[in-house]
Amino acid sequence: MAKQYDLVIIGSGPAGLAAAIYAQRAKLSTLVIEKEMMSGGQVLTTYEVDNYPGLPGIGGFDLGMKFRQHAEQLETAFAEDEVDHVELTATMTEAEEALQAAELRVVEGSSPEPVPEENTGSWKRVVGKKDTYLTRTVIIAAGATHRKLGVPGEEAFAGMGVSYCATCDGAFFKKKRTAVIGGGDVALEDAIFLARMCEHVYLIHRRDELRGAKTLQERLLSLDNVTVLWDTVVEAIEGTEKVQALKLKHVKSGEASELSVDGVFIAVGITPNSGPYEGLLELDHGYIRADESGATSVPGIYAAGDIRTKQLRQIVTAVADGANTVTSAERYLTEQ
Ligand code: NAP
Repeated sequence: MAKQYDLVIIGSGPAGLAAAIYAQRAKLSTLVIEKEMMSGGQVLTTYEVDNYPGLPGIGGFDLGMKFRQHAEQLETAFAEDEVDHVELTATMTEAEEALQAAELRVVEGSSPEPVPEENTGSWKRVVGKKDTYLTRTVIIAAGATHRKLGVPGEEAFAGMGVSYCATCDGAFFKKKRTAVIGGGDVALEDAIFLARMCEHVYLIHRRDELRGAKTLQERLLSLDNVTVLWDTVVEAIEGTEKVQALKLKHVKSGEASELSVDGVFIAVGITPNSGPYEGLLELDHGYIRADESGATSVPGIYAAGDIRTKQLRQIVTAVADGANTVTSAERYLTEQ
């Protein structure tokens, strides 16, 4: 039977953990649901974070673990579950009322009290694959996952030379030739990281201008063993048992070519993990529509971090969202 919370936070990346820290300090009864133990989000697979104020050059894993330890020090409760969907419910079901009554009896040794009026407002039922959680507010901080390139060979060679995480798999390509696809922060960071160990790295970008931060661009372009292939797209990933070559096309001249590589790292952006909330919340290109307060189209449900509509998806903005959404949730709880 569902346990009850003031706040359920979905996701344990920087946004979810920052929300947990603020919620614990606000003394809200809170649960963080994470898909896997220590899910942690994208930060854990980032080699180096160079723009988090006060901690220049800290490893992504180290920063992620600091967030986690801080939340744990404040005795945050975690549950390992995968959220399927969230339901709205005007009041608790009879079964849930019976549970609350039983809990009151155990705790206070008194006869069951009716559910207090102020507690029967708008409840949310977070339905996971393992359990159901009853809560008055929800913060969705479920982040985003790597987007696929969608070319022949990508799926067939996944784990056989095709990777979406340079820090996880880069070591398999020591002294080899690799390619990184994309022109954003992740692609630039991946190419810089791989250049430390690979014989040669090709950054393949579909335009003649990079999207990633200027400091990363400068670092990348200064490396002797990196070549940028501008205005170029990958049409297929080829090989026998593992990746051996990429079929390329120059978008301006239309010229086709082949590049022999041992590995290809795909960094073409992210897709928000908003599937479970389709139909419940307003989405915009897959991102949950929310402003700085985190308020979504449903009162009492907030969105934080990479999953929401926003200008800048970075760790520093994710943790700010965590703080803001808890403040919004507290206001909602007081006003109910
Ligand atoms: P991103 O900024 O959206 O960049 C995706 C890149 O992939 C773009 O250069 C895009 O090209 C290219 N691309 C997209 N679809 C493609 C396709 N089908 N074929 C070829 N190229 C394609 O994504 P990201 O680099 O994964 O970063 C995600 C978010 O995390 C961003 O907001 C980023 O700023 C943030 N982030 C921040 C940091 C940091 O602050 N240290 C580190 C990592 C990530 P176009 O340029 O032509 O669109």
